[in-house]
Amino acid sequence: MELEQTRRLVTGIPGPRSRELVARRESAVPRGVGTTMPVFAVRAGGGIVEDADGNRLIDLGSGIAVTTVGASAPRVVEAVRAQAEAFTHTCFMVTPYEGYLAVAEQLNRLTPGTHAKKTVLFNSGAEAVENAVKIARAHTGRQAVVAFDHAYHGRTSLTMALTAKSLPYKHNFGPFAPEVYRAPLSYPFRDELDGPAATRHAIETIERQVGLPAAVIIEPIQGEGGFIVPAPGFLPALADWCREHDVVFIADEVQTGFARTGAMFASEHEGLVPDLVASAKGIAGGLPLSAVTGRAEIMDAAHPGGLGGTYGGNPIACAAALAAIETIETERLTDRAREIGKLLTERLLRLQDKDNRIGDVRGRGAMVAVELVRPGGEPDPELARTVATFAHQQGVIVLTCGTYGNVLRFLPPLTITDELLHDALDVLEEGFTV
Ligand SMILES: *Cc1c(COP(=O)(O)O)cnc(C)c1O
Repeated sequence: MELEQTRRLVTGIPGPRSRELVARRESAVPRGVGTTMPVFAVRAGGGIVEDADGNRLIDLGSGIAVTTVGASAPRVVEAVRAQAEAFTHTCFMVTPYEGYLAVAEQLNRLTPGTHAKKTVLFNSGAEAVENAVKIARAHTGRQAVVAFDHAYHGRTSLTMALTAKSLPYKHNFGPFAPEVYRAPLSYPFRDELDGPAATRHAIETIERQVGLPAAVIIEPIQGEGGFIVPAPGFLPALADWCREHDVVFIADEVQTGFARTGAMFASEHEGLVPDLVASAKGIAGGLPLSAVTGRAEIMDAAHPGGLGGTYGGNPIACAAALAAIETIETERLTDRAREIGKLLTERLLRLQDKDNRIGDVRGRGAMVAVELVRPGGEPDPELARTVATFAHQQGVIVLTCGTYGNVLRFLPPLTITDELLHDALDVLEEGFTV
């Protein structure tokens, strides 16, 4: 049955059925697992999530940049059903299957650069990042890894060390993995440095404090850190420095990849060709899958048996990824991402003209954010919370992010309609007046 693409509230948020489930959750699931909204989903698709009480919410989050092709994309649903009927698992390391190869070949084709590439598959973004670091260490024989201010790379031991923000990701969870160093990021709204100046600052820090690392890892647009788009030239100059010194340049495209930013990978916006690309989130229409794709000679540095995992490249997730890639290409979703970005940005800039608490409107494609500030530019996380809470109560799923918690971020599924986007923005605009 088609899920109607309109916002509808039939109860308060949360409704009675969700309230019951929230109570069960509180006794069954630890409080450490956060939730944005106190409602339980029963169906989702297009730009709508329907909850247990029959409320239809507008989805501006895509389950954190995952359901780029929608949460029930027809090709994905059909591919998953067919693969589940054939077999659910054999383990690629025991008796391999073609779906894994096909996904590897697609990623070797789609990631930036025309050099010979290879791909290995895993389950989560953090697992892809960890393995990219393992491969870079094996290739260079060095250990140090450089990550950036405001970075987010995951919640496992190594990726927690790579992540910048303490609360909530690292607090009480140390000790952290050694040989991780932090360099300053280009953050145009706050550091006011142009690309060359920000690059000098970063490279000087690396050369003085680390020497030559195995790898530099960076998100082309930072996700959890606040949708920070570095100044033009920063990423290419950093990649040049890495190439000159045989340091592996790892692009963490877990959030930015798969059409989200109006290109298949965000690296493309600046002609960047990373040595290794970590992808996940939008890759498989909602199924858990991640990948490391990179230069064949670097990827082959790890010894036979050194890479893998029981579920890595699960056949159902692979079938879903092939269907998601076909959907992105045949429905030209990179174009749609740019249209969505234009609509969001135009409306948010108009709102900024009227409201100087919106310090910055930024992003690329369907990855757009506003940074909220007090007079003088100090971060205003309370305003972000107030607007987000108002939106949630009105049936709009919107996420916050940023080192200071003062960024509202918009990551709708690329299957959302313009009508839903306008309706959601009307609600947000009202949220700034409460
Ligand atoms: C979400 C995210 C990760 C971690 O992915 P998980 O699948 O949650 O482990 C890593 N890097 C970036 C940039 C992310 O946005």
